[in-house]
Amino acid sequence: MPDLSVDELLALDRQHVWHPYGPMPGRQEPLVVASASGVRLRLADGSGELVDGMSSWWSAIHGYNHPVLNEAAHRQLARMSHVMFGGLTHEPAVRLAKLLVDMSPDGLEHVFLADSGSVSVEVAAKMCLQYWRSLGRPAKRRLLTWRGGYHGDTWTPMSVCDPEGGMHELWSGVLPRQVFADAPPPRYEESYAEHLRELIARHADELAAVIVEPVVQGAGGMRFHSPDYLRVLREACDAHDVLLVFDEIATGFGRTGALFAADHAAVTPDVMCVGKALTGGYLTMAATLCTARVADGISRGEVPVLAHGPTFMGNPLAAAVACASVELLLGQDWLSEVKRIETGLREGLAPALGAPGVRDVRVLGAIGVVQLDHEVDMKAATDAAVREGVWLRPFRDLVYTMPPYVTSDEDVARIARAVCAAAREG
Ligand code: PMP
Repeated sequence: MPDLSVDELLALDRQHVWHPYGPMPGRQEPLVVASASGVRLRLADGSGELVDGMSSWWSAIHGYNHPVLNEAAHRQLARMSHVMFGGLTHEPAVRLAKLLVDMSPDGLEHVFLADSGSVSVEVAAKMCLQYWRSLGRPAKRRLLTWRGGYHGDTWTPMSVCDPEGGMHELWSGVLPRQVFADAPPPRYEESYAEHLRELIARHADELAAVIVEPVVQGAGGMRFHSPDYLRVLREACDAHDVLLVFDEIATGFGRTGALFAADHAAVTPDVMCVGKALTGGYLTMAATLCTARVADGISRGEVPVLAHGPTFMGNPLAAAVACASVELLLGQDWLSEVKRIETGLREGLAPALGAPGVRDVRVLGAIGVVQLDHEVDMKAATDAAVREGVWLRPFRDLVYTMPPYVTSDEDVARIARAVCAAAREG
């Protein structure tokens, strides 16, 4: 096929291609990206570049076309792009597992290399249910979560997304019935902690695990809450024989100002999911980590195997880039960079506070959120950001940014201006 013009490409896109959550009623025409470098996306229509305020959904923490990540990909490509993981192993996967174990909260020791965040959550749930089954307690097969969460688009993750007004409401009668606590309040409230304790105690006999996004609820509403609730969950889970799963797919690798959000509370979950920024946004890979207790429990069962083995498990190319991305992150003062962005976003988003139509402005680490008092007009908001030279993807009542950590101060200021403009015009 010869090179396509932008118009031809868009016509074929309309005809044949599903986009996330598409087709959306009244969706705006997608922008065609020709290339990306640093924090900039270059548009194919020749209209210029956009500063990426989204890090491609939290993933491209080092920016695009990074020489270190490119080199890791090229080097690995010349060796082996993929090989099955059943009965075979290789250095990129083993090195990555070791890196993840060393950097994650103490006690997490075993790593399942999944091929997407949703699959890593499926595997986490499977681990927990199988653990109790292996211990002769098969009735412990439900999950507890709090409202306002988001854990992915496959079946089990959908069942622990917010059941009301969330993205998967359509399936509420069909999905496994999980146990829901109220959404966590931003600041610590003893009455809410008590609500969590009471619910875990009441359902303990049927609960395999509690699963939550620690500190930041992302795609379910961009809400922040006190890390103290993580300690409450840890204690209640320990007291009532329930496993604790943290979904760090969005929060992992420094985004909240800690390497993992669990570190804000110094809590180790029994199972932890990571994804998105794992490969610096280059390739699709996620991981489910668990403690020796969980792994040993599973291997003591009647069926002592974790029956999950996707074709692209442990993909060497993704694992090699993930190793390079993690080493790049840990080899620099990442915390200062995240704090620098936090300061820039606090300053830049301050004007939105008190503006008409704005309910709340909040910033944590390299995450800035403006919450409106109405559903955002996605097209008007996106257009306003593009006019400022910035790519944003507002949703529901939210205009937000999670820029790459390499975003300069000027570009952070520009992104903040775009968020304010999108909030004003959306
Ligand atoms: N969990 C969380 C907290 C997420 O933010 C996401 C993605 N937005 C997922 C799970 C699902 O990951 P993926 O899109 O890679 O399947």
